[in-house]
Amino acid sequence: MTSTHAFWLAGRQVSGEDSFDVTSPWDGRVVGTVSVPTDAQIEEAVAAAYAVRDEFAATPAHVRAAALDHVSRRLVERTEEIARLISAENGKPVKWARGEVGRAVSVFRFAAEEARRFNGGEAQRLDTDLGGQGRLAFTRRFPKGVVLGIAPFNFPLNLCAHKIAPAIAAGAPIILKPAPATPLSGLVIGELLAETELPAGAWSILPVPNDRMPALVQDPRLPVISFTGSETVGYAIMDSVPRKHCTLELGGNGAAVVLGDFASEKDLDWAATRIATFSNYQGGQSCISVQRVIADASVYDRLVPRIVAAVEAQVTGDPGDDATDVGPLVSEDAAKRVETWVDEAVAAGAALLTGGKRDGASYAPTVLTDVPSDVTLACEEVFGPVLTVQKADGEAAAFAAVNDSKYGLQAGVFTHDLQTAFRAHRALEVGGVVIGDVPSYRADQMPYGGAKQSGVGREGVKFAMDDYTYERVMVLTGL
Ligand code: NAD
Repeated sequence: MTSTHAFWLAGRQVSGEDSFDVTSPWDGRVVGTVSVPTDAQIEEAVAAAYAVRDEFAATPAHVRAAALDHVSRRLVERTEEIARLISAENGKPVKWARGEVGRAVSVFRFAAEEARRFNGGEAQRLDTDLGGQGRLAFTRRFPKGVVLGIAPFNFPLNLCAHKIAPAIAAGAPIILKPAPATPLSGLVIGELLAETELPAGAWSILPVPNDRMPALVQDPRLPVISFTGSETVGYAIMDSVPRKHCTLELGGNGAAVVLGDFASEKDLDWAATRIATFSNYQGGQSCISVQRVIADASVYDRLVPRIVAAVEAQVTGDPGDDATDVGPLVSEDAAKRVETWVDEAVAAGAALLTGGKRDGASYAPTVLTDVPSDVTLACEEVFGPVLTVQKADGEAAAFAAVNDSKYGLQAGVFTHDLQTAFRAHRALEVGGVVIGDVPSYRADQMPYGGAKQSGVGREGVKFAMDDYTYERVMVLTGL
């Protein structure tokens, strides 16, 4: 027995005419059936959001903050159930899914806190300049309008939270579109928001099929698009609406650098364990999972076998099992793509140290060395449990290797040296540098986004609120 899930239209639970099944990538069972909005229902949601935008912007901060706090608390209460849902529809091991719920709890809490302090305004006397006598200016931020939030499959709850929570905190209505493979976790947020006093119309969660998205993207009543997903889709959206405000959170091929000073047995064991864990968590389907290890030549020979051993220690299997570290990828097609890329690299001369096997949607945790720089695996985001290790002669060569990528999302640098840490921060062309660990750590309250083709703009609760709003100056005269 599976349930049919209605979607959320202007704060109400509504069904459309069509539906689709959401299946588990682990065993193919139907996890739920999701109702799809008709064109008329999509129009209704957009019209409602557009109509309520002034009212929502004027809704007191304490009301919006209370709603956000409520969602945060309810997520805590429902953690286990929601983690199991994420795991079922996404294939993510349940222990990682619990972590994702915990992060969404924090995102809603951060948004509640920001809602309370946002928009304090900044006052300035203007009589410091000619013509400014008797004048005072101050600024407040106002929503740019209705936000269209588009989320990917890999963090189906938390990346929906990262769209919707800042919008509510900023007083901007939002139409949220979850990913087709994993809409159920996003729809749960609707259940919690429906328990609040937010104005009807301020939020909708619509599982709109991809082929009907262009009309929504083009809709002039939705001036802000906040997109997280692939480079191809993200840039196509931005190119199709050059006059809209688009934030793009795109892919990466995260690098972990292990430098020569990180050389004790304990250091290398720690680095290898972290690398193995975070190249494989969620089957490597995280935009900041470790894809590339760049090891100083002085530690390379001692590090590689440790990484292989740690990767082989990852427990693969049923994502619903508490012991599982690595579950399936989101689909068999995704696993086949990873297989093709690894096979291409091996045919071109790469050494396969472990893994390299596919079973349905599952791909074995894999480590390669000597990967030619022109194969797909070396150039693109693999988004699978695959790790390449390369050698670098010294810090400058290691940093250059990190930057030798079209992506620039995050990088990790294993070093004990503070000066090196500052040099890394300056040299690496990425949105975030993690010192002493892998790149796979996102601080949800901090600005998050990419350099180069990893994206445009920044997310992170306060920074998304800045993105959804603009400053408007008021000048008072005759003072
Ligand atoms: P995707 O680009 O296939 O889909 C993302 C979203 O876009 C989905 O909701 C999808 O339905 C929608 N979409 C597809 N076609 C569309 C169209 N024509 N118009 C509007 N929307 C459309 O990405 P995915 O496979 O769901 O997610 C994986 C990608 O997301 C990876 O590249 C990963 O690196 C990236 N990602 C980035 C971040 C980040 O913060 N930088 C975080 C997580 C994932």
